[in-house]
Amino acid sequence: MNGMKMISALNIEKNFDKLEVLKGVSLEVFKGEVVAVIGPSGSGKSTFLRCLNRLEMIDGGSITIEGDELVSTTAEGKVAYAEESQARMICRRMGMVFQQFNLFPHLTVLENVIEAPLTVKGVKKDEIIPVAKELLGKVGLLDKLDCYPSRLSGGQKQRVAIARALAMNPDIMLFDEPTSALDPELTGEVLKAMRQLAEEHMTMIVVTHEMSFAREVANRVIFMDKGEIVEQGDPEAVFGDPKQQRTQAFLNHMS
Ligand code: ADP
Ligand code: MG
Repeated sequence: MNGMKMISALNIEKNFDKLEVLKGVSLEVFKGEVVAVIGPSGSGKSTFLRCLNRLEMIDGGSITIEGDELVSTTAEGKVAYAEESQARMICRRMGMVFQQFNLFPHLTVLENVIEAPLTVKGVKKDEIIPVAKELLGKVGLLDKLDCYPSRLSGGQKQRVAIARALAMNPDIMLFDEPTSALDPELTGEVLKAMRQLAEEHMTMIVVTHEMSFAREVANRVIFMDKGEIVEQGDPEAVFGDPKQQRTQAFLNHMS
């Protein structure tokens, strides 16, 4: 782990109108850690990930990424985000992969992967194309460079989405149920790509219903319910000997 703190989220609160979706969630993630987040639908898992990279604004708490403060809350309860360009720079260190792949339908596989580096980062085309090809090779899609997304299976689309996120050279990857929209026979190829990334020591937070993946690949498992972290620990402890009744009930229901 070498001790470097990649994410420090403290007491995150998030409300949608009167609905309290995150009730003071705290999570620290260290370099190279793979953290799996499990829990029932509606418990706030997606919202938490989205708060980390400012897709949602928080109502309380603080978030620090690699030592740089994205947002903090004063003693008086005033939430203050970093200035826009700084906030954007901080959030760019996190790549995100969603349940729905969100590929650009009018761009080929290769064009999808190079789009953000070209337009957001201003990387030169002849520099990013070899990188994109290497990433697509890693996820087993070199033969699909010129295909449009409509010609791909769900598993292939999701692997493009992973390569696309990696093309921005993130330090952290956030996955929000990346296999939930896939037919069961296509989940394996996506999990394999994620497992490979974990083996390369990418720092990852993975919201997932794939309990065997969480158990085998994660260094730590977080169980969320009703907007709070109910239990966390190493996978063997959480799956093998859950301490909280809510965790037990959830895991019994899943198996
Ligand atoms: P999970 O990912 O664990 O299934 P979510 O974070 O998606 O949970 O949702 C947590 C709660 O927040 C749910 O009750 C959901 O309906 C609500 N919610 C999520 N996003 C919004 C939104 N944009 N507006 C209003 N309510 C939302
Ligand atoms: Mg969700």
